[in-house]
Amino acid sequence: MIFQQIKVGNMDNFAYVIADSKTKEAAIVDPGWDAGILLDFCNKNNLKIKKILLTHTHYDHINDVEYIFKKTNAEVYAHSSEAEPIRKINNKIKIIGFKNRDKINVGKIEIEVLHTPGHSPGSSCFIFDGKIITGDTLFVGSIGRTDLPGGDLKVMAESLKRLKELDGNLEVYPGHDYGGKPFSTIDFERKNNSYLE
Ligand SMILES: [Zn+2]
Ligand SMILES: [Zn+2]
Repeated sequence: MIFQQIKVGNMDNFAYVIADSKTKEAAIVDPGWDAGILLDFCNKNNLKIKKILLTHTHYDHINDVEYIFKKTNAEVYAHSSEAEPIRKINNKIKIIGFKNRDKINVGKIEIEVLHTPGHSPGSSCFIFDGKIITGDTLFVGSIGRTDLPGGDLKVMAESLKRLKELDGNLEVYPGHDYGGKPFSTIDFERKNNSYLE
């Protein structure tokens, strides 16, 4: 498997590339900014971008979705409750709405969806190969805001409880570089993130 964390834009966003190293099929997670850098990485590694996966649809995570769609014709995966913002960007984009526990395949890699609302109604995490991409639900040492439209502190608390119960060895890859390091583990967050105590 090829897995790459790439810092993009001016808001400390992280985008991710997940690819099957045999079939060369790839997915880009949260292409908020710097699509050129993401496409370059894929080109250099001979990857074919088939899917764009979105942890949620705030502007800073979807700003470059259309650019990548136009270059690759990739399908866009988002939680069913947040498909609308993508439809508004470009109605030619094929949007596939997912729900909790759905599986998304990238080549032979199976990615499981964990719906973790609170930061936004459709906020979701992606679990695969001992890793979890947590979007703006869980950051290293902190969590996402719940005061934006659609945010809900109580719902967030329930989602965090579910994250806390996951395997401690799971590596946590957040949607922003807001912590002391770019990624951690569930176990590290249990010990160092006051929201997971
Ligand atoms: Zn957000
Ligand atoms: Zn964000």
